[in-house]
Amino acid sequence: MLDDTEVARILVIAAHPDDIDFGAAGTIARWTDAGIDVRYCIVTNGDAGGSDPSISRADMARLRQAEQTAAAKQVGVSELLFLGYPDGRVEATLELRKDLSRVIRMVRPDRVVCPSPERNYARIGTSHPDHRAVGSAALDAVYPDSRNLFAFPELLSEEKLEPWTVREVWVSASPEPTHFVDITDTFGRKVAALRAHASQIADFYQLQERLEGMTTRLAEMGGLPEGRRAEAFQVLQTG
Ligand SMILES: [Zn+2]
Repeated sequence: MLDDTEVARILVIAAHPDDIDFGAAGTIARWTDAGIDVRYCIVTNGDAGGSDPSISRADMARLRQAEQTAAAKQVGVSELLFLGYPDGRVEATLELRKDLSRVIRMVRPDRVVCPSPERNYARIGTSHPDHRAVGSAALDAVYPDSRNLFAFPELLSEEKLEPWTVREVWVSASPEPTHFVDITDTFGRKVAALRAHASQIADFYQLQERLEGMTTRLAEMGGLPEGRRAEAFQVLQTG
């Protein structure tokens, strides 16, 4: 596994605004504190979110982009790219693979974070179809597309984007996590980041309790000392 001191840039790919904050915000705060350049690429604007029919979907998309931007600030991230795919209808198409390959070649990250393409039968809420589609397309973009000169050759010929090899992928919400990050010290910032997604939160105290339970469970699963909190990832060597 790469040591964080070997990592200059990290690209975090997600399906919806708020996914990153549920799965990885505490870890990301640690990375930015260590001086690593972290950027977000969010495939949809989350326009199918919320439950208020009086808000137009275009307004919801704008609101959720603003919420995600505020959430990112809580954990030291200021570069966000929204690809604008329709929320709830994402598929792992060649077009999405090309779009993610473009972003990887532009950002040139050492490490990519993405959702799991697998269905987690133990935690059905993490296995939204958009998450699985984005996870699948992101892994395909890491290998082989973004490193292969002959995959989407127009990225090089028309956009001058050289192939790039991502060295490591951290899969979020994997059914088989292999690495547990102690986020006890950054948990407050994770909560603050999630609080920024106000349009999606019906009951903030219930959310906080859920986060406490989730991060405590993951710390126990990872064998961390009692009273610690964790986020979990499946780490893949990719280059
Ligand atoms: Zn989501």
